[in-house]
Amino acid sequence: MSVQPVVSIVKCKDYDEGRVYGAVVEALEPLGGMNGFVSPEDRVLIKPNLLCDSPPERHVTTHPSVVTAVARLVKEAGGRPVIGDSPGLAPFHKAAKTAGFEEAAARAGAELAPFKNSVSVTLPPGATFKEIEVASEVVEADKVINLPKLKTHVQMSLTLGIKNMFGCVIGKRKSQWHLMAGKDRVYFARMIVDIFSAVTPALTIMDGVTAMHRDGPQNGEPYPMGLVFAANDAVALDAAITWMVGLTPDKNPVLAAAIDRGLGCGDMTDIWFPGIHPKDAQQKGFVIPGQTELEIGPGFLRPYLRRHLVPKPVTDHNRCTLCNKCKAVCPPGVITTANERIAINYDNCIHCFCCVEICPEGAMELHRSFLSKVVSKMQ
Ligand code: SF4
Ligand code: SF4
Repeated sequence: MSVQPVVSIVKCKDYDEGRVYGAVVEALEPLGGMNGFVSPEDRVLIKPNLLCDSPPERHVTTHPSVVTAVARLVKEAGGRPVIGDSPGLAPFHKAAKTAGFEEAAARAGAELAPFKNSVSVTLPPGATFKEIEVASEVVEADKVINLPKLKTHVQMSLTLGIKNMFGCVIGKRKSQWHLMAGKDRVYFARMIVDIFSAVTPALTIMDGVTAMHRDGPQNGEPYPMGLVFAANDAVALDAAITWMVGLTPDKNPVLAAAIDRGLGCGDMTDIWFPGIHPKDAQQKGFVIPGQTELEIGPGFLRPYLRRHLVPKPVTDHNRCTLCNKCKAVCPPGVITTANERIAINYDNCIHCFCCVEICPEGAMELHRSFLSKVVSKMQ
């Protein structure tokens, strides 16, 4: 018997620890509380968004008060909480300390564990790959709780519940995935959905108290949404948020790929919303970055249109400190140094924007042509 998809949305105006704890409890209530998911002695892997070493006030990572609340609730349900991730853009312990997770783990009595080992998981028919390698720490956990941050994404439009599981691919292997997908964001979306299908979380709790919009996931702007979400179906949750921010599923390629694979409920009429209904929480001011892969125009014109419509990374040489982080992260290795300046070979750039994400100085910026800005407004 299939389980009714439930997306519970509650208000939470700021990150006061008591208020966040209360909001998570309220959001979980219609889902049977944390006890509905966690049994005594379960080793529960909590997977937040720990993209890089960014402090909580920048809203790049899941807020530590949300991490603390969830870890505390797991403990209260008798489980053993483990907070884990594999940040692609910084060493785990450095990122966890800066993001406030070290303190969150100590406060909640949780273990903090980087993903270190990969295991191969066989995927069912319909997947893009027959098998993939993901963190053993996730596969071997008794339960997985997904704890994403609600953000925009310059390549994929949004990063929500499904995409947060991309962090289960260990460290530098993420770059290989970008390289395999190349410029094709639909293919990349299918790869992300493969990972999600290998490690589908029992529960997803999303930090939407202060979201990020415009050029996320790292260089966007804070967006005070004032909401906490809990769902037993991450696809249903992503569908609800996609709708709330004014997009159709086809404009969120990860969601579209998950629906296509039949991995969850993408139909708003089949989802139960016991708290706030998405129609009463429309986010009119939330700005999605323009899409970077455009399937418009006749085939022979697409290379030309892409060249002029797809945003590209551009270095602000006044801010660049030549730290070389962008060079190290670039999957196809198209960033070099020439005359003591960063140079990019745009012919082979795959528009993954890992360089924009990693730059600690904000010196790698997205540049959009005039034509691209006009088309973005039309989408
Ligand atoms: S990561 Fe940023 S600061 Fe470092 S070399 Fe690249 S552009 Fe310059
Ligand atoms: S230059 Fe930047 S956007 Fe282009 S492939 Fe390298 S990391 Fe990706």
